[in-house]
Amino acid sequence: MLGGNTVMHQSFIKILLSIFLYTALIVGVISANEEKNYIESATYKIDKKQTFIEIKFSRDTKYQYNQLQNPDRLYFDLEVSSIDTKLNALVRALNEKTGLLTKAVIAKNKPNIVRIVFQLSPDINTRVNGNNRVIKILTSRNEIPDLIDNFYQAESTQTKNKIWEKDQYVIAIDAGHGGKDPGAVGRKGTTEKSINLSIAKKLKKYIDKEPNMKAVLTRDKDVYVKLRDRIKKIRKHQPTIFISIHADGAKNRKASGSSVFILPRKDEVASSRYAKNVADKENEMDLLFDPDIDNRDKDTQKTIIDLSQNVTRYLSEQLGTSVLKRIGKVNNLHKKKVEKANFAVLKSIDVCSILVETAFLSNSEEEKQLRTAAYQDKLALAILKGIKEFLKNTPPEQLGVRISRN
Ligand SMILES: [Zn+2]
Repeated sequence: MLGGNTVMHQSFIKILLSIFLYTALIVGVISANEEKNYIESATYKIDKKQTFIEIKFSRDTKYQYNQLQNPDRLYFDLEVSSIDTKLNALVRALNEKTGLLTKAVIAKNKPNIVRIVFQLSPDINTRVNGNNRVIKILTSRNEIPDLIDNFYQAESTQTKNKIWEKDQYVIAIDAGHGGKDPGAVGRKGTTEKSINLSIAKKLKKYIDKEPNMKAVLTRDKDVYVKLRDRIKKIRKHQPTIFISIHADGAKNRKASGSSVFILPRKDEVASSRYAKNVADKENEMDLLFDPDIDNRDKDTQKTIIDLSQNVTRYLSEQLGTSVLKRIGKVNNLHKKKVEKANFAVLKSIDVCSILVETAFLSNSEEEKQLRTAAYQDKLALAILKGIKEFLKNTPPEQLGVRISRN
């Protein structure tokens, strides 16, 4: 038994040893393979305003990067021992194109470091994002919002197998209040709901004349539309942009001028006492007539959470700034900058959205103007110009623009 045991012991060791050797061999082969092919993919997308580069690693890869000036360049030191063929191909392709990255160079810098350098056009914004498995580089002529990932995901899913459509921008216009909810009321008895509706209809008329735009209204007559139904309607049309039209009212009859609002970030509060008051006032009616507003379904709640982190907020601010600039040529501005406040109607829609307070109905002069078709026209055209300017400066893929399915 003792001898037998020794034999068994020896063969056990042999087996263990062979397993170990065999494993070592396989591991050796695998890591050699991995060493050569550490890149899963190296892709890029170039248009006039931005360049995206994505480098995916097939295994965890350490790297460092840095941005240098004169000339502006961005380099990455990858902790690998050889230059991957896919990286070589990326560098070659980038050098053949004219994008915001004017030149790319790759070289083995030290025994275990491969350096890749991108030369950048002057005065562009650059953002690098990633982890041990991926590097994402976005360069843009526009400002780059915090969430490159959102951009990137929208970008890649949309461009994969679809084509941009020309007739692409859907603008949802919401005439605030309506029916039993008059909104602000002027001295002469002008109701906000009627002014909002007139301006919204005029804006729709102008938008529909544009070759690449189409407008939808949340209401086209004097009816009260519950917030929940407004939101449903808007979502159905999946607009590119959402604009809620209002007219202001204040106890101080001297208050005057136009304002544009967007939602604050989740960690922000209203941008001013004025902004908070306006939001309280505009929300009040909906909350009054729609007591279920706080019992939103989970889907809506999720959207609200997403919104605060979403890139749409950044785009909303851009849109708001464009519109405010244009309205500033028609009326004086109550606030020179886009204001931030929690409007229920903006909170529930996950697209680029603004709320416009066209003028003060509580101000006699402005009430008089708001009543005239000519002034309503001017306001509608100013909003249209602001939208067009914004669209001109924003690549459609950033807006998640709807695309043809054929
Ligand atoms: Zn209002």
